[in-house]
Amino acid sequence: MLYSELADYYSRIESTTKRLEMTSILVEMFKRADKDEVAAISYLTLGKLYPDFTGIEMGLGEKLVAKAISRAAGVKSKEIDDLYEKVGDLGLVAEEVLKRKSAQLLFQPKPPTVLEIYSILDKISRSSGGGAQDEKLAWLSGLLSGLTPNGAKYLVRTVMGKLRLGVADMTILDALADLYADGDRTLIERAYNLTSDIGMVAEALAREGLEAMKNLKPTPGKPIRPMLAERLQSPEEVMEKLGGTLALEYKYDGERCQAHIIKGGVVLFSRRLENITPQFPDVIDAVAKYVRAKAAIVEGEIVGVDPNTGELMPFQQLMHRRRKYGVEEALEEIPTNIFLFDVMYLDGEDLTNVPYLDRRKRLEEIVDCSGSVKLATRSIISDVQSFEKFFEEAISDGCEGVMAKDITTASVYQAGARGWLWIKYKRDYKSELADTVDLAIVGAFNGRGKRAGTYGALLLAAYDKASDEFCTVCKLGSGFSDEELFSLPKKLSDALVKEKPARVNSLIKPDIWFEPKYVIEVKGAEITLSPVHTAAFGKIRGEAGLAIRFPRATGKWRTDKSPEDSTTTQELVEMYQSQLKKIT
Ligand code: AMP
Repeated sequence: MLYSELADYYSRIESTTKRLEMTSILVEMFKRADKDEVAAISYLTLGKLYPDFTGIEMGLGEKLVAKAISRAAGVKSKEIDDLYEKVGDLGLVAEEVLKRKSAQLLFQPKPPTVLEIYSILDKISRSSGGGAQDEKLAWLSGLLSGLTPNGAKYLVRTVMGKLRLGVADMTILDALADLYADGDRTLIERAYNLTSDIGMVAEALAREGLEAMKNLKPTPGKPIRPMLAERLQSPEEVMEKLGGTLALEYKYDGERCQAHIIKGGVVLFSRRLENITPQFPDVIDAVAKYVRAKAAIVEGEIVGVDPNTGELMPFQQLMHRRRKYGVEEALEEIPTNIFLFDVMYLDGEDLTNVPYLDRRKRLEEIVDCSGSVKLATRSIISDVQSFEKFFEEAISDGCEGVMAKDITTASVYQAGARGWLWIKYKRDYKSELADTVDLAIVGAFNGRGKRAGTYGALLLAAYDKASDEFCTVCKLGSGFSDEELFSLPKKLSDALVKEKPARVNSLIKPDIWFEPKYVIEVKGAEITLSPVHTAAFGKIRGEAGLAIRFPRATGKWRTDKSPEDSTTTQELVEMYQSQLKKIT
């Protein structure tokens, strides 16, 4: 496929906001692609070259890209800068100046294919050291001069890390399911959840069909998308949901971490599947020393320990000190423990389909608890008194609450899914929502009076998994310190967009729109029905969505969560319903 053809699909995708239409354009695009192109096309369509966990990003700077455009089109830099100032998007600038150029050309240059473009982008992203800038400039201007104006527009946005087609990984999975599985996403989604590598999944499908999905196993080195917990508001509800007997584990307030033991050592991934290996050399050493396995994927929570008292520390404090002192000093000041709670792969065996109790047993067999690797404190419980006692112990040991886990034979590791096999239960706050919510920032309102020059409030949204949209739930204006308030415009600037992003569903029009990127923790008084917010719209009552009343910022930015990890509209519905139960 020529890159310019791919760009034409992108134009069509961009011109619609309807997910079904987007999916059918993607289906057409994948049908048209060769087997050896589908991996590259999958990554490129998400604006990337590789899966996120590799940590390799393009993000070329404006100056270099502007220079490349000026070279490719034979136009003075000043003209490029002026145009950029006017339209605010170097992609549009490239399109405009190349249009003029191609009108003057007698012979059009040979157009590059997707794979030719991909392989040069690959070189660009890997080039570093002295002379790298000149090299990148030469490669990029070479690429641009061979492209159609429309192709150049999308390539420029891609290399700047600003291709925002409104296509999420789940939309691509839908398209692949339409193409290879009669619209049934189950097997394909599972393969993706186990490997987090959409290109690999797409290519395996193109080469071997659906059968390939059945054989895909977790691979040490590729993060598994984490299993997520539902929440309930009382021990009775939790016990009823899990059939009376269940496992209770401490819910540690730390950083979730997947540790992969591979041949060359240990690799750590965060909840968002970022490679966090360099941040925790202490955890690497501990896992290598105290987990007995040749190849394994285990999961746990990294928690800071106060060296003076031996008590667990709140996570914020650990992160704060790490930022202040850097890794080395923080290591000395705050040792960490990792509390393991699961094992998903062990020496060649996929354990994700093995029930929880067996997984826990396998975990106990391989962990030596004499150092800083521990097992999550756990107890099997069948009555409310024991539940409450365990919960109190968890709180007094410095935990946030408890995690209840299903112990039936159905209790597999549900990668990438939020389900009722795990239920979190946190400390109850009087006359407030029992739990905080984590919401994506999608807009802002300009401040007045004392808040002139910054934002008066932020527009926040929950994630609707079914429609893959961010639906508004509240305007947030309180809970910020002055300092934090005035730092907001700068902090959020890289998510700023001119128009409402395709995946945001809002009846309110803020002064400023943001691409969902930042997630903030919010405490609210209760959940109410609202005609102006779109979360779970029509789910409880026609013409009304759910809103959070009296929201205030807790001061915690959930940098460990991607926008799709925000509290979901489904969770809000459940919180609303359990709130009703409490009142009646
Ligand atoms: P939340 O971040 O409030 O949605 O709660 C879910 C998080 O609790 C998980 O992502 C883990 O990081 C954390 N967690 C702490 N202890 C456990 C445990 N024993 N089992 C599972 N998750 C745990």
